[in-house]
Amino acid sequence: MRLLFVASEAYPLIKTGGLADVAGSLPEVLRQQGMDVRLLLPAYQHVLESIEPPEFVADMEVDGTALRILATRLPGTELITWLLEHPVFSQRPGNPYHDHLGQPWPDNADRFALLSRAAAAIATGTAGLDWRPEVLHCNDWHTGLAVALTHLSEQRPRTVFTVHSLAHMGLFDRETFDRLRLPAHFWSDSALEFYNQCSFIKGGLVYADYITTVSPGYAREICEAPGGMGLEGLISQRRERLVGILNGIDNRVWNPATDPYLEHPFSPETLDAKARNKAALRASLGLAPAEDRPLVGLVGRLVEQKGLELILPVLESFLELPVQLAILGTGEPRYEQRLQAVAAAHPDAMAVVLAYDESLAHRIEAAADIFLMPSLFEPCGLNQLYSLRYGTLPLVRAVGGLADTVVDTNAQSVADGSATGFVFRRPDAGELLAAMQRAAALWYDKQSWRQVQLTAMRQDFSWQQSANRYLQLYNDTA
Ligand code: ADP
Repeated sequence: MRLLFVASEAYPLIKTGGLADVAGSLPEVLRQQGMDVRLLLPAYQHVLESIEPPEFVADMEVDGTALRILATRLPGTELITWLLEHPVFSQRPGNPYHDHLGQPWPDNADRFALLSRAAAAIATGTAGLDWRPEVLHCNDWHTGLAVALTHLSEQRPRTVFTVHSLAHMGLFDRETFDRLRLPAHFWSDSALEFYNQCSFIKGGLVYADYITTVSPGYAREICEAPGGMGLEGLISQRRERLVGILNGIDNRVWNPATDPYLEHPFSPETLDAKARNKAALRASLGLAPAEDRPLVGLVGRLVEQKGLELILPVLESFLELPVQLAILGTGEPRYEQRLQAVAAAHPDAMAVVLAYDESLAHRIEAAADIFLMPSLFEPCGLNQLYSLRYGTLPLVRAVGGLADTVVDTNAQSVADGSATGFVFRRPDAGELLAAMQRAAALWYDKQSWRQVQLTAMRQDFSWQQSANRYLQLYNDTA
């Protein structure tokens, strides 16, 4: 079966979040299962600079715009990756979505409409290529229009649209809609119009044969307010076409036994080596070598979604428990500044690195005892899955994919051997603090802690099972 998988980012070529992890692993797993897969990505400047010169595939023209398709292999895999070259991608350094001040690129609508038009042309056989997919799989708002445009054609493949996050809907004004010269009937509540704006994500939600989200929990949440963010009416109408499939993790990239970023690789059998990673991380971050307190890690975007409003009021209470904190992330300046200020007042106990640093992310996952992820909403979340694999017990809020993947530690779950982390319910800083107290207390009970760590490390979140669910959907012609 031929599959065109379209995304705006894919690890390791270009990554800003979990979407890249999925686009960098699921298509390759599907290829290994025998599918004929092409991954289509924009040829960002950063991507072109980081690979060997790609092969020429074809020139094409969509809607009067000349484009070129280049081919490379996704590094570390055999996956054929098509790069869509146009100056709006290839002559712009930096982040795919915004400038260095965090402002969206002013031509984002045009850029991702271009990606979508090219994908739709390939999908419907009008791109002049000798390869045409039987299934088009699009991801998030950047590719929503591709689904809508593909459905204009009678010669269309089956379509699947995955929601990695509803928080970004690709909203643009009427003027932009007109400039893009989209079909007039798309400006309708039953198509792309959303409260007098044009929403690219609706293209996927309205037209796709199947909608998937990245966890069963999130699939339920987006059928209702507030999870549906105003789209709950549309999504619940399509409930029968909505499937939650949990993301897998790339075991080649996230494996504590073979992780090249670690000074001291470890496995369930050699879990004691984890402590050496902790000592190394503390030393590199300037934290005191305090053997008597657990180390809490946090890696992620420093934005409201990730629970910063819950963390900030209780940060100093965390430190008094006592725990140490190692935080890596970038995000909203107000959160960055507040975290830095607390760290400056407690340099022995708290370190904050405001950067995007793949190596440090791996080293924090390996070194920490507890991983903090108290998200307000979380479609799947990958960091808690990495944490489980690295024997770092996740402390999460019971929402979306976090609720689906972490089992709270209590008397019963310890007794039946199912506990893997710490879960609290309400978005309340007091509840978060209470969960951290429970986690810190259990850390002193070395035997129970070890048992929960080993259970966490045994969890299987590899792609195999989830890839099979996608295969079933692709095969479903109904
Ligand atoms: P989201 O996609 O909402 O950002 P996920 O938990 O699904 O959250 O995935 C985030 C991914 O991005 C993880 O692989 C995480 O390790 C990585 N990541 C986020 N921030 C950073 C950072 N500052 N440095 C390195 N990796 C990061």
